[in-house]
Amino acid sequence: MLPMKTLPFDRDFIEKLTETYPTPFYLYDERTLRRQARQFNAAFAWNPGFKEYFAVKANPNPALLKILQSENIGGDCSSLPELVLCERIGTAGENIMFTSNNTPAAEYRKAGELGAIINLDDITHIGFLAQCRGGSLPELLSFRWNPGELREVQSVIGNPVEAKYGLTTAQMDDAYETAKRKGVRRFGLHTMVASNMLQQDFFRCTAGTMFDLVTKIEYRTGIKIEFVNLGGGFGVAYRPDQTPLDLHRVGADIQEEYEKRGMQPLKIFTESGRLIAAESGTLITRVIHEKNIYKHYIGVDACMANLMRPGMYGAYHGITVLGKEHTPPAEPVDVVGSLCENCDKFAVDRALPPIAIGDLLAIHDAGAHGYAMGFQYNGKLRCAELLLQEDGSVRLIRRAETMDDYFATLNIGAGVPG
Ligand SMILES: *Cc1c(COP(=O)(O)O)cnc(C)c1O
Repeated sequence: MLPMKTLPFDRDFIEKLTETYPTPFYLYDERTLRRQARQFNAAFAWNPGFKEYFAVKANPNPALLKILQSENIGGDCSSLPELVLCERIGTAGENIMFTSNNTPAAEYRKAGELGAIINLDDITHIGFLAQCRGGSLPELLSFRWNPGELREVQSVIGNPVEAKYGLTTAQMDDAYETAKRKGVRRFGLHTMVASNMLQQDFFRCTAGTMFDLVTKIEYRTGIKIEFVNLGGGFGVAYRPDQTPLDLHRVGADIQEEYEKRGMQPLKIFTESGRLIAAESGTLITRVIHEKNIYKHYIGVDACMANLMRPGMYGAYHGITVLGKEHTPPAEPVDVVGSLCENCDKFAVDRALPPIAIGDLLAIHDAGAHGYAMGFQYNGKLRCAELLLQEDGSVRLIRRAETMDDYFATLNIGAGVPG
């Protein structure tokens, strides 16, 4: 058995918390979030214009966005509400990257109003964007590149040829030339071809390829590219046997490719969601049932509606039975929620310490694409989000949904039996 990741709290602390906030709930650790933000900034400190734009979709809680903002991290948005979230916490201008696809006009208008950096997903969007803005284009424009065939990493990330995102290599020159002709003066280049990538060399490779493309585009079109945005996809070692990315080395590898080609003063941007926020978040849930049929099931009061990664992707999340951190594992169990879907399992055949009804479980690395992917299927209500602050105090940063929230969008008029 490999050791479980340690948590910044123990059973007594959580048990006390549940007196005020019933389970299930998310608990985020401010220190861990800041540490991750600082690691990004440190790994790329060699690049004067470096900026990480946190992918808001990974965790759209304004309290967390505000913490990241104080670490000089921007917001990467792809919808109107995400743009408004940034606006409401006071992030604006080029601290927002708008990387959307299949984008409605209203979203381009809002991004323009906020002065966000707009990253176009298709060549036809140049005209569409101009139309949304009464004919003019912004001063700065970026394009998302889809590299098409990728030999080395295809098996891990899926074939970019099958991905709906971005412009083909053949369209890139034309896109920049058209934008220039229509008055754009500053340019960026974006790509995102990885998800949860733990292969160290992948990032060096991607950056190198992008630097080469920048050089070619600049030579062929006469424009100057101001930044490359490497996208997100920086992986998290969810499993105890996985090796975490060495972000510092990723930064140093990219620096080597950058200096080798003399790319100065090109700025580097990233759009990480997962690696910034995953580890800071834990889903806390209580065991409410135990069932022995063909298999041994542990039933908890959270379900896939709170965290759907295990059910949807078969994703692994570490589980700590609070108070039993040093108890050896018993026979494997399935840890399940209450959804009427058999994929509603947080763990399958997991060797955990012997579990009793009433035990508290901490589901690790749930701070990114966790709460954010929650849903109300089966009449499940979204749970609360709490923040463990640097001074040790806990703050409610989103209350749990109530039945009233569930019914709020319905028109149940008088006369409807109920
Ligand atoms: C999802 C997404 C991200 C963030 O991905 P992570 O895996 O959370 O790092 C960044 N950019 C774009 C365009 C995305 O769609």
